[in-house]
Amino acid sequence: MGVTRSTLAEQQPQWPDPHALAKVKEELGNLPELVTEEEIEALSVNLRAVARGESLLLHGGDCMEPFTDSGLDRVTLKVGQLSDLSTLMRAGSGMPRVTVIGRIAGQHAKPRSQEYDWSPDGTRMPVYRGDAVNRPTPDRRLREADAGRMLESYRHSALALSALRQSWSGKPKHDRVFASHELLLLPYERALFRKGERGSYATSAHFGWVGERTRSLDGSHMDFSASVHNPIGVKLGYGVTPAELVSLVEKLNPERLEGRLTLISRMGVRNIELVLPDLVRAVRESGVPVIWICDPMHGNTYRSTSGEKTRSVPDIQEEADSFVRVLRAGGVQPAGLSLEVTPDQVTECVWSSGQERFPRYQSACDPRLDPQQAAAVVEAFTENL
Ligand code: PEP
Ligand code: MN
Repeated sequence: MGVTRSTLAEQQPQWPDPHALAKVKEELGNLPELVTEEEIEALSVNLRAVARGESLLLHGGDCMEPFTDSGLDRVTLKVGQLSDLSTLMRAGSGMPRVTVIGRIAGQHAKPRSQEYDWSPDGTRMPVYRGDAVNRPTPDRRLREADAGRMLESYRHSALALSALRQSWSGKPKHDRVFASHELLLLPYERALFRKGERGSYATSAHFGWVGERTRSLDGSHMDFSASVHNPIGVKLGYGVTPAELVSLVEKLNPERLEGRLTLISRMGVRNIELVLPDLVRAVRESGVPVIWICDPMHGNTYRSTSGEKTRSVPDIQEEADSFVRVLRAGGVQPAGLSLEVTPDQVTECVWSSGQERFPRYQSACDPRLDPQQAAAVVEAFTENL
């Protein structure tokens, strides 16, 4: 953690080489925008439809997208999975449209609960923070934050975005899969902050979100997000209070624009019914329009007895059920889901807790739903709508 510009900048890596960092910032500042204002505005139009109850929203993809997934084949596969899930959502709900935003084309950096972990030989090393920062290999040197990797992140994002745009060809704008990532690395995001026609934008992605660990009201991530015209999301864990949330929505959506702000509830199955009702009521009474979606993943992570980080499908489905119930009881439209999913046949999340074997655990970060699990979660959610 560090302090910059007099506000708190949480979850920033310690960059060991300030000159390298300055050079990277300058280079990024001179590179073209990754996404255009026109594309971002197309997403904003879709999100206005979500806010009005005319479309659902599906947000999904990897927890951490590895650089090796930036090519056409991988992006096409992931876009295909998200499109299939959106078809299930449409069919199950009878809603005419589903707006789809991938955790894709730049989801390269992660907030972490611990600053350090231990290598197999017992030496302490910086924790892996995503390909934009360091390498997952448990080697102290490779775990040093390398500012040059933010330039690599830019290049990989550009590659993945060109694949994403290929998937758009011949489709109406409301059938596009858009790109998003957590707005985490402030040097990167600030270097790609650009003035447009209608306002200033984060040009690293169409949609960006603020994570549970970086959403403090006077923190730098909030200030940055408030300063851009992109649609923004905020993750909300069970610790947020109604008063704090009202300040948050007023800060991020002072003009009260429909579709501007998406609240992503990630309370955990044990807390959601206790915490969410008061939050929903407080936001509704504030009069600030928001989209409410459920991330039923991040509040339900646990370690298996063999040590893997996992999540069970029944917990995930139950949290999504509770979400729908709470929102409906509060007179508010449950608008969709935010999921960690992969088109690969991995064993990361489990069908029931107690699973001991994880032969194809591939995530370098959080456990993802495999294709069948993802379909089951989406189907259960839409049946309830
Ligand atoms: C994530 O979305 O991968 C994440 C870290 O979420 P949260 O900020 O909700 O913990
Ligand atoms: Mn995650």
